[in-house]
Amino acid sequence: MTRLIFLGAPGAGKGTQAQILAESCGIPHISTGDILRAQVKEQTELGIKAKAYMDKGELLPDSLILDMIRARLSQADAVNAGWILDGFPRNVAQAEFLDRLLTEIGQSYDLVIDIHVPQDRLVARLLNRATIQNRPDDTEDVIRRRLVVYDEQTVPLTDYYQHKGILRSVDGDRELAEVTHHLESLVN
Ligand code: AMP
Repeated sequence: MTRLIFLGAPGAGKGTQAQILAESCGIPHISTGDILRAQVKEQTELGIKAKAYMDKGELLPDSLILDMIRARLSQADAVNAGWILDGFPRNVAQAEFLDRLLTEIGQSYDLVIDIHVPQDRLVARLLNRATIQNRPDDTEDVIRRRLVVYDEQTVPLTDYYQHKGILRSVDGDRELAEVTHHLESLVN
């Protein structure tokens, strides 16, 4: 059973790589960003609340995220096959919640993979993605805010997982296939 947590700044290629690896391992790719974007599209109560934060590049309050994760990790595919978590946890409080939740539901994770790309490359990549995908949070101001939020709130997680000895850093500033190859070598 493979269970992985992916870290990486917006634009690092984390979502794409998580998707590819999840398919090759035959496990669910659980992206909180994707779940939230679906909720926004369906205009659910959560989606309406989430949109206000997402459009500004801010994180949602943990209270809106934690039940969603608990529910998703309790679904049969995640219980039976494992998972790749992409976009969660995003801060130390969420990481602590995840550890408690997993203990409670009898799961654990194998590795935390940090896909690293230099800051100046990230902005260029995100602006490029904006022209292709038309995501409302891919305007330059919001991109810059998302990168600041990542530095302030999510980067401290690398220390959290480094201390546990399960962090692996991967250079994401390479051809997509090279990064995938490196990731597969870590997992297999
Ligand atoms: P992502 O696609 O992972 O970059 O997520 C897009 C947006 O969804 C983020 O900028 C946040 O507003 C929100 N979001 C996704 N995951 C989380 C999370 N774990 N905690 C809080 N907000 C989140």
